[in-house]
Amino acid sequence: MNEHTHKNCQELLGSLSSYIDGDLSPELCRELEKHLAECDNCRVVLNTTKRTIDLVHAPIEKPDLPEDVRERLFKRLNLDNYLTPKPK
Ligand SMILES: [Zn+2]
Repeated sequence: MNEHTHKNCQELLGSLSSYIDGDLSPELCRELEKHLAECDNCRVVLNTTKRTIDLVHAPIEKPDLPEDVRERLFKRLNLDNYLTPKPK
C-alpha cells in the first residue's frame, strides 16, 4: 500500500477549485502539483474539473451551421422528420 501518496487527497481536492481559479497560495500550489504528479486519482479529478470549467467558461461560439450540414446532421441523428414533416 502506498498510502502516503494519498494522505492529502481530500484536503488537496478541497483546494482544487481555488487552484484552478489561481487563488491558491504559491506554497499550496506547489504542494498540490507535487501531489498531483504522484496521484492518479487527483489528476483525474483535476482534469475532469478543468474540462468542466473550460466548458462553462468557453466563449459562446456557436457558428450557424450551413443548411446542408445541418440537414445531414439531423438525418444522421434520425431527426429528419423534424425537417420534413410528414403530410397527414
Ligand atoms: Zn491524491
